[in-house]
Amino acid sequence: MSSTPQPATSNFIRSIIDADLASGKHSSIVTRFPPEPNGYLHVGHAKSICLNFGLAVDYQGKCNLRFDDTNPEKENEEYALSIQDDVHWLGFEWNGKVRWASDYFEALYEFAVELINKGLAYVDDLTPEQMREYRGTLTEAGRNSPYRDRTVKENLDLFARMRAGEFADGSRVLRTRIDMSSGNINLRDPVIYRIRRAHHLRTGDKWCIYPMYDYTHCISDALEGITHSLCTLEFEDHRPLYDWVLDNISVPCHPRQYEFSRLELHYTITSKRKLLQLVTEGRVSGWDDPRMPTIIGMRRRGYTPEGIREFARLIGISKSNNTVDMAVLESAIRDDLESRAARVMAVVRPLKVVITNFVDGQTESREAGFHPQHPEFGSRIVPFGREIWIEADDFSVAPPPGWQRLTVGGEVRLRYSYVMRCDEAVRDAAGNVVELRCSIDPDTLGKNPAGRKVKGVIHWLSRAHALAAEFRLYDRLFTVPEPDADKDVDFCTYLNPESLTIAQGWVESCVKDAAPETRYQFERLGYFCADRRDHLPGKPVFNRTVTLKDSWAK
Ligand code: ATP
Ligand code: MG
Repeated sequence: MSSTPQPATSNFIRSIIDADLASGKHSSIVTRFPPEPNGYLHVGHAKSICLNFGLAVDYQGKCNLRFDDTNPEKENEEYALSIQDDVHWLGFEWNGKVRWASDYFEALYEFAVELINKGLAYVDDLTPEQMREYRGTLTEAGRNSPYRDRTVKENLDLFARMRAGEFADGSRVLRTRIDMSSGNINLRDPVIYRIRRAHHLRTGDKWCIYPMYDYTHCISDALEGITHSLCTLEFEDHRPLYDWVLDNISVPCHPRQYEFSRLELHYTITSKRKLLQLVTEGRVSGWDDPRMPTIIGMRRRGYTPEGIREFARLIGISKSNNTVDMAVLESAIRDDLESRAARVMAVVRPLKVVITNFVDGQTESREAGFHPQHPEFGSRIVPFGREIWIEADDFSVAPPPGWQRLTVGGEVRLRYSYVMRCDEAVRDAAGNVVELRCSIDPDTLGKNPAGRKVKGVIHWLSRAHALAAEFRLYDRLFTVPEPDADKDVDFCTYLNPESLTIAQGWVESCVKDAAPETRYQFERLGYFCADRRDHLPGKPVFNRTVTLKDSWAK
């Protein structure tokens, strides 16, 4: 069953770790998860979290949580806190305290001075436009900046004055001195410090120069004794710079970087910047909108941490394209919920039914278990009544061939109850069916009717006992598999206008005390989760997590 942990699937990173442990290169492993606190995490980050923290668990090593907080304008505390919540919710614990790249700002500065002293870094006064021009192209070598041969003394002086705030934002940078004709553009004297007067969430206004990500990341890894620094494939071309920096300064160790492919999910997007756009433009109700592929959105929708971890295991880790259909994620969630969600009945599009031969006191209610395989979940009485609700979809005046649900003159089994015949459909002035008049066969409680077969079983609720509830039903957020594939078209063009349907219906009153985030299977409708924000005991709100069958396979 899916809630029991499955054995880890082997992958190239595990093979590397196995070899490093076998050869004695490392006696234990240290990984890290290094998010930038510039947005809420998404399902792609969940893959990286499961990888980094999961390896630490499996190999009895450690995994650090380190914020990459080198872009003060875009980062904030709200994002940093949400990321910590997400990691915990997914079931992981980081090693020691939360770490921040900014913890190392002083050390990073000293290492930059070391590079200057070795003639390996210089202050450049070129404007950003000039720098771009000097950088060259993929096919053309770059040119040396006229400031490249400044003396060590002059560079030390200028860099100290950059830090002291003597120069305007953007007027100077510190660059490494590597090779302007390198085939790898990342090695053409990349900038490692820039001047930016921005308030930083941790260091306030202490600094007006900030280190660049590539420079910061490798040094932070080394200072933390990371053994295996795992990142996504777009950093493969940055690895030579990662190694160059560590080779040229006095760090305690030289971690190795390994790259794996990013997760891309069809019919959604995995980019914090684009998810932010959906939020700021009001296309969704917030980062935690249950249609969002954010961890907090998936949580609010009712996805389980176990299901997401199982999904991460199923998709694996490799260097090849990792574009996955939403159906794979949904099926992992469904498999997990199957054995743990109590089953009750709800009606999302109610149609009133009057049982004309109901005899109070004689027509009985039945007890029903909450889960067919788990008697320990308990049971409740499913009350019967003269008036019941059924699902409007379960009735048709002119049913297609093979119809097993209700039609005039036809019979169905009411789940946990009697066989019921529809005698008449009552219509309003416009001709719409607004009520059914039906009769039950009193001899069918818990047994088959004599002399005939009734195939269809439908869910229903006693009108007098049911609890009014709101149901939020979701469809894909986008109408095309890769909404951001075309750079010239705004991905918002492909938003699905029908991604959210709100229905007012009914549910069994036994859920009346359900706490927010309680999950149920509403029979035949799918798995639902009491909304974290809006669900109240007297006013239930349920989000459909996932339907029972794969409704995506068309
Ligand atoms: P985004 O483009 O969405 O902002 P990012 O890579 O800039 O993503 P970070 O906060 O820097 O976001 O990511 C933290 C870690 O998560 C990094 O190691 C990154 O490689 C990993 N990661 C980000 N997106 C994905 C993804 N789609 N699949 C797997 N890992 C990812
Ligand atoms: Mg990033």
